[in-house]
Amino acid sequence: MDIEYERLVRSAVFDYLESVADRDGVVSWQQLRSFRVGNEPVLLVGSGNGIFKPRQLDLPISILTAPPKDGRQPPYEDEVSSDEFLLYRYRGTDPQQWENVRLRRLMQEGLPLVYLHGIDVGRYLASAAMLVDDDPAGLTFMAVLADLDTARSGTDIGDLNDRERAYQIRLARQRLQQTSFRERVLKAYKKSCALCRLRHPELLDAAHIIRDAHGGRPIVPNGLALCKIYHAAYDSNIIGIRPDLVTEVRGDVLEESDGPMLAHGLQEFHRAEIWTPRSANSAPDPAGLEERYAEFLAAS
Ligand SMILES: [Zn+2]
Repeated sequence: MDIEYERLVRSAVFDYLESVADRDGVVSWQQLRSFRVGNEPVLLVGSGNGIFKPRQLDLPISILTAPPKDGRQPPYEDEVSSDEFLLYRYRGTDPQQWENVRLRRLMQEGLPLVYLHGIDVGRYLASAAMLVDDDPAGLTFMAVLADLDTARSGTDIGDLNDRERAYQIRLARQRLQQTSFRERVLKAYKKSCALCRLRHPELLDAAHIIRDAHGGRPIVPNGLALCKIYHAAYDSNIIGIRPDLVTEVRGDVLEESDGPMLAHGLQEFHRAEIWTPRSANSAPDPAGLEERYAEFLAAS
C-alpha cells in the first residue's frame, strides 16, 4: 500500500469538496461522483452501504449516513452520544468483517476520510473525519470531526486537543441541524418565500415558528420559508402570522410613512394570505402558529 498516495488523494479530495460545496458545506451525489485525479475519475461514494473505497485506493475514502426517510426527525442525535466524538456504527456485528477491518487499518495509518451526512435525497453535508478509536464491544468507531476548511488547511485532525474536538463536534452538530432544517423547509416551500413568493434561494431562510430558544424543534412543521427581510420582521414581531395563515403588520409600522420598501414591502402585506405546503407532514403546525401569534399580539 502506498500511504503517501493515500494521503495525497485525500488532501486533493478535501480541496475539491471545499471548492464545490455550497456555503453550508452541502455537496450533491453528482459532485461526489465527479472527482478526478488527473484525467481519471475517482468516485467518492458508491451505491452500496455507508463505507466506500474507490478502486484506485486501498483504504476507504468516505463514510456516509443516509438522510432521514420521513424527513421529520432531526438527524444526528442518535449518532453523537459523546461530546467530543462522532460514533460510527460497524458494518454488521462482526468486528472482523472486511469493511470494518479496512476502517481499522485507516485508523491505524492515521489517514482522514470524508464524513457525509445525508440531509435530503442526494444531498450531503461533508466534513473531514479521523477515526481515533474502535470499540468492538459497542460495535462502533469513534471519529473526530473537522470542517473541510480545517482539513484543507493541513491541520492534523488527529492532533486536535479535547477542547478543539468538542468544539468541532458542536459546530458539526449545529451546522447539520441548521442546514438540514433549511434544506427541508425550502424544499417543502418549493424554494419560494411563503409571503412574497420570491424564488431566490440565496435570499431565503427557514424561519422557526416556535423559536429555537423557546424549544422550537428544527422540523418542517415548525418552519416557514421566508425571505431574509420577512424572516427578520417575523422574528422581531413587525409582522405576525395568524393560525389561519393571514399576516398582520404591527399597528405602529402600519401607520408610518416612508419610502417604497415600507409601503410595498411591508404595509401591503397586511392581511395577506401566506402560501404553505398542504401535506400534513410539511404544513405549519397550527398550535405552533397560535403560540407564536400570541407573542406577536403581546408585542403589538
Ligand atoms: Zn419574501
